[in-house]
Amino acid sequence: MSSFSSLQPTTTPPPPAATRTSLLPYHCAHQLSFSSFPAQRLHSGRRHRFRVRAIDAAQPYDYEAHLVNRFTQSTKLKIAIVGFGNFGQFLAKAFVRQGHTVYAHSRSNYQSIAQSLGAAFFSDLHDLCEQHPDVILICTSIISTESVLRAMPLQRLRRNTLFVDVLSVKEFPKNIFIQHLPNHFDILCTHPMFGPESGKHSWQNLPFVFDKVRIGDEESRVARVEAFLDIFKKEGCTMVEMTCAEHDKYAAGSQFITHTMGRILEKLELESTPINTKGYETLLNLVENTASDSFDLYYGLFMYNKNAMEQLERLDLAFEALKKELFGHLHEVLRKQLFGKAEEGGFRRPMLAKLPKNGTPLLPPQSETLSNKSN
Ligand code: NAP
Repeated sequence: MSSFSSLQPTTTPPPPAATRTSLLPYHCAHQLSFSSFPAQRLHSGRRHRFRVRAIDAAQPYDYEAHLVNRFTQSTKLKIAIVGFGNFGQFLAKAFVRQGHTVYAHSRSNYQSIAQSLGAAFFSDLHDLCEQHPDVILICTSIISTESVLRAMPLQRLRRNTLFVDVLSVKEFPKNIFIQHLPNHFDILCTHPMFGPESGKHSWQNLPFVFDKVRIGDEESRVARVEAFLDIFKKEGCTMVEMTCAEHDKYAAGSQFITHTMGRILEKLELESTPINTKGYETLLNLVENTASDSFDLYYGLFMYNKNAMEQLERLDLAFEALKKELFGHLHEVLRKQLFGKAEEGGFRRPMLAKLPKNGTPLLPPQSETLSNKSN
């Protein structure tokens, strides 16, 4: 580090830590102040010591700026996105904008798209891994993730590389990471709860779920995870730390239902009208937000979240219950017309019992879950 310092003979005690170094992080400042050189005897016979006085003395070029630049670089990550489709490209834009180095790999050739986004594309996974990225970000479809992970030449990566995923289900990637990655790799499971449509203008206040599944104790490894999470904090996301199991429970009741409703409505081919209500606009937006996602994504939400099946059954039950309530009501009106007062007191409109709470086992549909005493 002596090359960053100006050397001047002095008899005065060393100055307090140079204020100019306050721009620099602790470790840089520390490196700047350690230069102490053996005492030298000058012509006067007095002992002089060479000391660092300042780092802003005339230099061939601005070393301080150079150091600040080096620090900035040290907080930047080399992120390799594996799966450079819709969502991978969407994330890459933010990473590049924040100054991170982005490498990309996909089974399709996205060379020119990557180039236009400021990322380097590697069609060969081996070449990608030999770049020694800090982070491998798995951004493939849920259903292809395991085969992609199996095909990774892990031996070409630096030990303790950080593996991150952004899959819309969480227990599944957590389990396959633990199963396939040697202990010396770090694991962070995440789910940005937004996509290229819902997050196209801003990520402000959009939830970002994460679970630090396995992170080594070393300071640099902890700092690397924080640097990655910082990307989303800087974009204004609401950071939510929760276990993968908790995520899947919540997501089945919210995200899977949302996507299912969006896809059902899409099948109805809803169209905008000159008299759209706010509610109807919401439905049109829902279709737009969900139908642009691939069917693979939706299928993955169903197949790889063990809570999804229950939600599908609840939807079925709820729809049947609603129909029963409507038809029951109609039935009552018709009977009144047919039999007049003769039946008064003898007939009661079928009542819709509430569905059991989320998470409680559903009884078979034939049972009296929906108590319809008059049927
Ligand atoms: P997707 O259909 O779920 O995934 C597409 C990506 O998977 C593409 O990169 C594609 O590569 C790759 N892929 C598909 N089949 C493959 C196979 N057999 N082998 C290797 N790669 C394969 O759509 P997506 O929207 O881009 O989502 C990517 C991931 O992000 C998913 O895990 C999803 O759950 C998650 N996510 C998406 C959103 C969203 O709003 N879209 C939000 C949060 C999280 P090629 O393009 O090269 O074929």
